[in-house]
Amino acid sequence: MYIDMINTVVNAKPSALITVNATGIISYIHMTGRSQVSLAPLIGKRFLKLLRLVFDMHNCLLICDSVSTCQTSQQQTAISQFKHISSRNLTEYFDCTFAPGPEQSVIIFFQNVTETVLFQEELFSITEQHEALNQDLCVSMAKLDFHLMDLEHAHKKLSALYRITAIVQKTVNEQEVLEEILDGITRELGYINAAIFLLEPNSQELINKAHRGYNDSIRIPLGQGVTGYAALHRELVYIPDITLDSRYIPGTTNGFSEVAIPLIVNDQVIGVLDVETSEEQALKAYDLDLLRSLASQIAITIAHANHVNQACIDASTDGLTSLYNYRHFRIMLQQELKRATRYKWPLCLLMIDIDYFKHYNDINGHLYGDDALKAVAELVRQYCRDTDFVFRYGGEEFMVLLPETNVTQAHIIAERIRKAIAEYPFQNSNNQPGGALTVSIGIAGYPDNADSESELIDAADTALYSAKRSTRNRSCLYSTNN
Ligand code: GH3
Ligand code: MG
Ligand code: MG
Repeated sequence: MYIDMINTVVNAKPSALITVNATGIISYIHMTGRSQVSLAPLIGKRFLKLLRLVFDMHNCLLICDSVSTCQTSQQQTAISQFKHISSRNLTEYFDCTFAPGPEQSVIIFFQNVTETVLFQEELFSITEQHEALNQDLCVSMAKLDFHLMDLEHAHKKLSALYRITAIVQKTVNEQEVLEEILDGITRELGYINAAIFLLEPNSQELINKAHRGYNDSIRIPLGQGVTGYAALHRELVYIPDITLDSRYIPGTTNGFSEVAIPLIVNDQVIGVLDVETSEEQALKAYDLDLLRSLASQIAITIAHANHVNQACIDASTDGLTSLYNYRHFRIMLQQELKRATRYKWPLCLLMIDIDYFKHYNDINGHLYGDDALKAVAELVRQYCRDTDFVFRYGGEEFMVLLPETNVTQAHIIAERIRKAIAEYPFQNSNNQPGGALTVSIGIAGYPDNADSESELIDAADTALYSAKRSTRNRSCLYSTNN
């Protein structure tokens, strides 16, 4: 009878051989055409559950070494159709590495394991894998949510950075640039304190040029404090808790963390951007990257503003005397005449020309002539009021614009200038005609002598000619008799 059963085992294809222990847990499983690896997930599972799910209970044999081991009431009820055989010699006939289970275990042989059964078993395994994947997915989704929040935050900050740089690029005045940047850092990016320090090359100190939340008067020597350290070592310094860093020089009352970023242009440190945050605003790596980008933008913008500023100064001043030049005179004359007309103020013009200057050059040489020109320019500036504008009009001619000044007041100022120059000890001035280097001055005023720019210039020129025609070293008011 056993031989018949074993022959059935051998010939049955497809078939399955399962070892179940006394508690109903699968301890070994073999299935024709299936690798042991793919069956491994079924080991340790409940046999009855698998049976209900997968196998056809009417189509199996229960193989036992002794009838007693498999006669628990549960197995008899659940697997009532099973026939019992001994497992002796099974390995010899069955084409698998047969490992009999421990004592008390039951070996079950299934015939005609259909494709459906295989499929269901596959499904079972896939479902388990799916569950595991699902769990992984949930964890990943949670992480993604977290990153999305970060990303949204970063995006907001990047937009703010873009807006700040866009505003800054439209501004050329250095102070306005600094104020715009600080507004952006505090309002748009939300940091509580921010300051821009610029390095003063002579004193090697970092001067607080603009700030939000800092003390006004801070000057930090290069190398000192967190700011000075960042400038000296040309590196970003981040202090998560300022109370724990001995370098920190208090400049604010409510900061918790500090970032100091050097402002570098053409490999030169020109200053430092300082930003402080509150305890709740822990800075992340991208915050530091963002501030780093902002700092390089600030550095370039400051350099640009300086260049524009210098270009403006160059375009409006005279290189020898540092006075405003002819070009700027025309702009200012137009502007001041408009203001005088609108507010009904008087406006006066002094035209000053050095007497016998050709002679001075001839006697002393052009270089001494230049020195004398510079000294005359300085004296004119010195003896005017702060509200007046002094210009080098041509070679040795100067103009002075006197806003809100009538011709009588202008005459007093002109005389003051003339006398100061006549008394000044220029080099070799005693060789000049009259024994001194002197000037003649023509005075004309709006609205008394002229209504337009050209009329005012002509009137001053006429008055100057009048001064030259008499003794020189004189100041003459315009008159129709000139
Ligand atoms: P006047 O009293 O009639 O004004 O006599 P002047 O010699 O001053 O007048 P003139 O116009 O004949 O000569 C002006 C001189 O000013 C000619 C030129 O050598 C000199 N000059 C003009 N610009 C400069 C300058 O930049 N440097 C020097 N050293 N001399 C200059
Ligand atoms: Mg002249
Ligand atoms: Mg002259």
